[in-house]
Amino acid sequence: MSVLGLARAEVRALAPYSSARMEASGGAVLLNANESAWPPFGGGDGLNRYPDPQPRALLERLAALYGVDPGQVLVGRGSDEGIDLLVRAFCRAGRDAVLVMPPTFGMYAVAARIQGAGVVEVPLNASFALDVDALLAALTPEVRLVFACAPNNPTGGGVPRADLLRLAAALAGRALLVVDEAYIEFADAEHDFASVADALPRFDNLMVLRTLSKAWALAGARVGALLAHAEVIALLRKLMPPYPLPTPSVDAALRALAPTGEARMRDRIATIVSERARMATALRGMPCVREVLPAQANFLCVRFHAVAAAWAALQGAGIVVRNVTRYRGLADALRITIGMPDENERVLEVLVRLRAAVECSA
Ligand SMILES: *Cc1c(COP(=O)(O)O)cnc(C)c1O
Repeated sequence: MSVLGLARAEVRALAPYSSARMEASGGAVLLNANESAWPPFGGGDGLNRYPDPQPRALLERLAALYGVDPGQVLVGRGSDEGIDLLVRAFCRAGRDAVLVMPPTFGMYAVAARIQGAGVVEVPLNASFALDVDALLAALTPEVRLVFACAPNNPTGGGVPRADLLRLAAALAGRALLVVDEAYIEFADAEHDFASVADALPRFDNLMVLRTLSKAWALAGARVGALLAHAEVIALLRKLMPPYPLPTPSVDAALRALAPTGEARMRDRIATIVSERARMATALRGMPCVREVLPAQANFLCVRFHAVAAAWAALQGAGIVVRNVTRYRGLADALRITIGMPDENERVLEVLVRLRAAVECSA
């Protein structure tokens, strides 16, 4: 498979650490991993044992949910771990690079810098949209990974599937396209913002990051998935620590992902999407608001006439939002997560009091 040819040679050649749990097969008396034979003090049935490195039940559930084969799923500690593994496997320090499209999620560039890889920036266009032609024109031979955040954080904009698939095709044999779908559950599939996971069989250089941290309300459990060809998954597993997923996190994930949990998740998304529309409309009518960017995620990126005043007013009311003014093109913006309806109401009450644009800039 050509995409493995883009990986670091030493990683391809690496003989991975083989843990006791990987080598174990069957048996009722487990004396192979130096665990305690006794359960922990204070309860926690089963926690005396190391966890399954890639729990079968979780792989199968996620595969069904995302419409891929279990062999195309790698579960880890949030999608952050997937980003880190990809950079370590595909970027040689001092030689290779990743490509990012600011303003976007900061972890891609941070992971690259930790690895000693370069960072090529191709900014989103004036309306914060992906510009496929500009990206291809800026592509250098050093670029191994292209990160596309879809929907994008912190702007909230959706990225058309057609653009992503065109990009995957154009990058074939040259670089991997990593599509970060952390917010895809909140996106409008009917407007070409659906997941690209179904296109994995068509492109060996396509990787998709998914997470349970947002729509599934499990940020504290740290469970994310990388969807990719089985050969890429096998390569990344060589770099992964032996027991990445804590047992309580796996249990919490399986409980949330049960069919009843899935139905409730869909209802929750409907609530968030309708609150998002309500908030966007209300904010657009406020004099202190310059622009509410089109949103396909569970937050709004709001540009203010006087962002410092808006930030201070919210802070003063005990409402913490994300200050994104250091991001390219967003020097006047705050990122506001959609909360519960009464929390959203409080945001609107504070901002509506900043009556006029002049008052805002005072
Ligand atoms: C929140 C977020 C994630 C999720 O990270 P986890 O490590 O899975 O919690 C990934 N990508 C983006 C762009 C995000 O905003």
